[in-house]
Amino acid sequence: MFIGHYAPGALGAGTGQIKLWQAFVGAQLVDYGWSALTMLGVEKARIVPGFTEASPLDLYHMPYSHSLGMAIIWAIVGAIIFGLIFRKQAKTGALVFGLVVLSHWFMDLIVHVPDLQLWFGTQKYGLGLWNHRAVSFALEVGIFVLAMLYYLKNTMAKNRAGYIWPIVLIGFMVLLQVFGNYGPPPKSITEMNVSAWFIYTVFAVLAYMVDRSRTFKKKPPK
Ligand SMILES: [Zn+2]
Repeated sequence: MFIGHYAPGALGAGTGQIKLWQAFVGAQLVDYGWSALTMLGVEKARIVPGFTEASPLDLYHMPYSHSLGMAIIWAIVGAIIFGLIFRKQAKTGALVFGLVVLSHWFMDLIVHVPDLQLWFGTQKYGLGLWNHRAVSFALEVGIFVLAMLYYLKNTMAKNRAGYIWPIVLIGFMVLLQVFGNYGPPPKSITEMNVSAWFIYTVFAVLAYMVDRSRTFKKKPPK
C-alpha cells in the first residue's frame, strides 16, 4: 500500500494528539525500515513486471519489517522514542503514534498478495487487492482523501497558506499514487528503496507545511 497508509495517519492527527507530519512519519516507519533492510540485503524483494496488476514487487522475505509480531515491536519502540523526543506528547500522543505505526501492517494486509507473516517462519497472509488495480487505486485514494477531510474539518487555516498546502499535499500524493499504480515499474530495487525514502520524506515535509499553516479549532466554551 502507498498513500492509503496515510489514512490512519491523518485520522490520528485529526484527534489533535499528534502533528500531521509526525503521523506521516509513523504511518511509513515500517517501510523506512523495510527500505533500509532491503538495501542491506537483510530483507529480500525483486521486481517482477506484472506480478500483480497494481504493483510489480515480489516481497518474498521481509519478516523484520512486515511480520505482525515485529510490527507490534516497531509500534512499541516507536512510541517510546516518540515520547522521549516529544515530552509534551509523552502520554496520549505516543499512544496515537504507536497505533499509527501498527496500522501499517493491517493496511498492507488488504492489498498485498500473501507475503506478510505473523512471525518469522510462519505462514504468509495477504488479501491480494493489488490484483485489481482500479479497485485498489480507488480504495487508497478514497480512504486517504476521506481521512484528510476529517483532519481538515477539525482544523482551520491560519492564513491563505492553510488552504494552499493541503491542496498541494493531497494533489501531489494522489498524482504519485497514479504513477505508482499505472506508471512503469522501477528499474531496480535500489532505485525503489532510495525513491521510497525520498518520497516519504517529501510527504512528511509537505505535512509539516500543513501543520504550520493550520490550527485546531477551539472547543466552544461549555
Ligand atoms: Zn509496507
